[in-house]
Amino acid sequence: MSKFWSPFVKDLVPYVPGEQPKLSKLVKLNTNENPYGPSPRAIAAMQAELNDGLRLYPDPNGERLKHAVAEYYGVCPAQVFVGNGSDEVLAHAFHGLFQHDRPLLFPDISYSFYPVYCGLYGIAYETVALDEQFQIDVADYNRPNGGIIFPNPNAPTGCLLPLQAIEQLLQANTESVVLVDEAYVDFGGESAIALVDRYPNLLVTQTLSKSRSLAGLRVGLAVGHPDLIEALERIKNSFNSYPLDRIAIAGAAAAFEDRAHFQQTCQQVIDSREAVVTAMQGLGFEVLPSAANFIFARHRQRDAAAIAASLREQGVIVRHFKQPRIEQFLRITIGTPEQNHALLAALG
Ligand code: PMP
Repeated sequence: MSKFWSPFVKDLVPYVPGEQPKLSKLVKLNTNENPYGPSPRAIAAMQAELNDGLRLYPDPNGERLKHAVAEYYGVCPAQVFVGNGSDEVLAHAFHGLFQHDRPLLFPDISYSFYPVYCGLYGIAYETVALDEQFQIDVADYNRPNGGIIFPNPNAPTGCLLPLQAIEQLLQANTESVVLVDEAYVDFGGESAIALVDRYPNLLVTQTLSKSRSLAGLRVGLAVGHPDLIEALERIKNSFNSYPLDRIAIAGAAAAFEDRAHFQQTCQQVIDSREAVVTAMQGLGFEVLPSAANFIFARHRQRDAAAIAASLREQGVIVRHFKQPRIEQFLRITIGTPEQNHALLAALG
């Protein structure tokens, strides 16, 4: 703290990201990265930019990427927004799309960046408890609100809300924006992008950090009605007109174009997840049903903090949230079969 800080900065409570250890020997299963590399076509496209493009500014609108996303989802480029990681896309949505006279609603167990953005942009919020099974019950959101946001699958639980329930939520909330944060949807969910043509208040965000294995590139996107996208563009152009560099635009567009690599690597993660779930149940864990590239599990007898510490000593790093109701759970990213084997051996 310094006397030069404004009162606003003094009161800010920033988000604390998961640990990024330097030791390459660790089996790193704590921040939901993809264990497989990105598309070789994406690497080639990025290499070409590196060789021949960096002298020039990028396209401020990232049109090449917008077209690739629009083509993939069967929407128009005017329905697509692209940004520097979905965290930045979410930040713009918080800044420009939620009403300030009523509280924003989100689940009490969900992505811990949401309350941080509420603090940053002065948005009042109320959290809504998950039900007994750690699921979102859309009926609990039938109350006055300035917007609704939730991850689907939820994080850190991994649980999926079916599209039908999202549609119920949209029908009951036509006056405020419903934002579905689909960071993990490609590992077993169905995208709500299928609903954007019917619901002008629906915004869906996604990231290339997980299913497309480009966490280091920082690319995220939103799909919704062109009027919602226009609001995000206004905010973006008032903040940073070139959020995506040339390497990011080229790599992300090529990653969307390479469907075969995407489908194959997602399927490998899904198959491994099912194997890890079965093995962990055999070791005495209760595992919540996951549609993500991670699982959320608690042991029937052993303490979560003690398990995390023991795993760490054995070179396996997982995420433990010291948050009420979930302090006995561990969030574990699905790795390669070798990494998963190391996890299970360390747990056994
Ligand atoms: N939403 C959720 C639910 C997440 O878990 C994450 C990853 N921490 C993000 C958004 C942000 O992902 P990125 O900024 O890498 O696109």
